[in-house]
Amino acid sequence: MSSLYVHIPFCHHICSYCDFCKVFYNEGWVNQYLEALSFEMKDKELSDDYQTIYIGGGTPSSLSLQQLKKLLDLLQPFSKKVLEYSIEINPESMNEEKLNLLKKYHVNRLSIGVQTFHDHLLKKIGRYHTSYDAIHLIKLAKSIGINDINVDLIYGLPNQTLQDVYEDIDMVNQMGIGHVSIYSLILEDNTILKHEGYIPLNDEEDAYWYQCIDCYLKEKGFIHYEVSNYYKRKPSLHNLVYWHYQDYQGIGLSAHSLIQHHRLENTKNLTKYLEHHYLEHDCPLNNEDEVFEKIMMGLRLTDGININDIDSLYHIDFLKKYKDVIDKYVKLNMLEIDNQYIRTTFEGMKYLNTILVDFLD
Ligand code: SF4
Repeated sequence: MSSLYVHIPFCHHICSYCDFCKVFYNEGWVNQYLEALSFEMKDKELSDDYQTIYIGGGTPSSLSLQQLKKLLDLLQPFSKKVLEYSIEINPESMNEEKLNLLKKYHVNRLSIGVQTFHDHLLKKIGRYHTSYDAIHLIKLAKSIGINDINVDLIYGLPNQTLQDVYEDIDMVNQMGIGHVSIYSLILEDNTILKHEGYIPLNDEEDAYWYQCIDCYLKEKGFIHYEVSNYYKRKPSLHNLVYWHYQDYQGIGLSAHSLIQHHRLENTKNLTKYLEHHYLEHDCPLNNEDEVFEKIMMGLRLTDGININDIDSLYHIDFLKKYKDVIDKYVKLNMLEIDNQYIRTTFEGMKYLNTILVDFLD
């Protein structure tokens, strides 16, 4: 699989829990940014056979119709063989014209930042859309013929109850949404909610909510395939590239790439990026780095990692090298080995970070 990630860092509003690489929308900056993106594309001599393209943000839908068209024009030479062409959109900055434009350029998957269908919670976290806007957008997308839709949801919001989350899932289910990403609210230091003193769920509460939500999603027919991701229609091909630890190209502010044993990191500084100084770090990865990163990504998947693949790719005896940590977590029913696959059990998914720290040690 050959994949391209494109980062659009602009947002019309800043949400109170957000720690992503983003900047306030400014028409002039966006125009300059698209020029700089075009420079990076030419400089990197992108391939013309990507099978997945993912436009993420920020808020890609914050671009005006003309800017969005320019972006899609820039990407057109690289999207001829694309199977899954995704874009992240927010309900308040999307409309019928933009949806029709996406359809015309063969964008076939939408990832919608809904977060919750409860208006009082949306307001609390600084989102500018309402539940009505989200429902209207989903209906509109479907009527235009874009049916492959992911909805992002968050749990652990201030004053949110488990019942609120169940109702969000009910709405997703009733609307025939085929993919859900559901994340626990994690507050980094430089977020508004953290400054306001909000304390998110503790580990124990989080594990309980995670389990209840997982049961509810499964009851509704969703299939769990990654720590925070569920599908009915199909999993995200693009995200599977990251979790399978395959190479991908990333362009735009703060974008990362994984190419031929190198992790390339673009600058997070918009001024530098607009001046075409896009690359910040080029880190060669040694065998040890790659084994750990492969484990870190692969254990996120319910399918797990093929042990034969790891052994032959990295010339190691995986079971021997990590015997102590594997034995420890198999005994705790957090890892399991079955038919040459090692995978995280549902219990292990709740404590994946702790397991990974042990692998790192
Ligand atoms: S729209 Fe997304 S990227 Fe922008 S501030 Fe909100 S959470 Fe962050």
